[in-house]
Amino acid sequence: MITGITGQDGAYLSKLLLEKGYRTVGFLRRSASANVIGERLTRLGVLQDIEMVDGDLLDMPSMMAAVAEFEPDEIYNLGAQSFVATSWRQPHLTAQATGMGVLNVLETVRKMSPHTRVYQASSSEMYGLIQEPVQSEKTPFYPRSPYAVAKLFGHWMTVNYRESFGMHASSGILFNHESPLRGIEFVTRKITDGVARIHLGLAKEIRLGNLDATRDWGHAADYVRAMHLMLQQDVPDDYVIATGRTTSIREFCRMAFSCVDLDYAEYVKTDPKFMRPAEVDVLLGDPAKAKANLGWKPEITLEMLVAEMVYADIDRLKA
Ligand code: NDP
Ligand code: GDP
Repeated sequence: MITGITGQDGAYLSKLLLEKGYRTVGFLRRSASANVIGERLTRLGVLQDIEMVDGDLLDMPSMMAAVAEFEPDEIYNLGAQSFVATSWRQPHLTAQATGMGVLNVLETVRKMSPHTRVYQASSSEMYGLIQEPVQSEKTPFYPRSPYAVAKLFGHWMTVNYRESFGMHASSGILFNHESPLRGIEFVTRKITDGVARIHLGLAKEIRLGNLDATRDWGHAADYVRAMHLMLQQDVPDDYVIATGRTTSIREFCRMAFSCVDLDYAEYVKTDPKFMRPAEVDVLLGDPAKAKANLGWKPEITLEMLVAEMVYADIDRLKA
């Protein structure tokens, strides 16, 4: 069972699990806009193979009902209010969905289905004001947004339930991962969509915030493999999933514009509207533990990722 089934990672993870022969259940919050529900799942060609169950992470009885009905062996808790900028505008909702939602999953499993293995989608945003130049599982956290604070709650609850109740609950501390299915509000997708529009004559510029922040960007398809591997281990644990390379927003712009032979400096404008009240300046992960214990390593380079995203946005806009 996957929460966050309609999101970027929900789509890639469903595809992976279906290919492995899993019966895959999506924990789906109702929307009045039915066409939006299946957009990413349709693009990966998996919508028709997923069984959906109504539910909301804010509503523990719905999680209990879903677990009672489907008796899942594995739950991947990907659902969250996942956009950092929004978390300052909706801190209470973010605390509920991104923080308390995790507890609702863990409590349901503890009470009703202790054999179920749980994956918690933790985040490199928890490192925030970084305490070490390269972040590993041992690096202290310093969250810098309501989103990161809520994720930290979920992370420690996962660790605590594992240690207190012997649950098979693992926390993946995933660094930023992107794809053509990334939400349009995130900076990579905003850039590749903007590049495609400019290339096709549909826009003249892209307005962005801080260009000097750096992120350790990987591809979502690589990162969902790591989620699955964590739940196949005999012993649950926490893992950093990252590429070990950090790149600035500015450099990402340069790479994306070069895919269509344009100079980013002529089209990218900065706009204070997109600056954040507190910034995470640098993220750079050390995936050594995941490599050693899970045998995981990323296969898609940043160059491949940027090109895939730019060309997918061009194709989408042409269509
Ligand atoms: P998305 O924003 O694409 O997807 C979020 C999903 O959560 C959507 O399916 C959304 O449903 C669902 N959701 C939101 N609120 C609720 C709720 N109250 N009840 C049930 N479902 C809800 O995120 P990603 O796929 O990119 O990320 C997956 C997870 O990994 C998230 O928890 C994110 O915070 C975390 N993460 C992501 C990283 C990244 O770089 N992508 C890095 C580190 C962690 P709906 O479609 O209805 O809005
Ligand atoms: P995050 O790491 O989860 O916050 O992922 P985002 O893609 O939202 O942001 C990554 C970085 O890009 C942050 O340091 C932002 O401040 C920076 N950034 C600069 N301009 C923008 C913008 O216009 N939109 C977003 N989303 N981020 C921007």
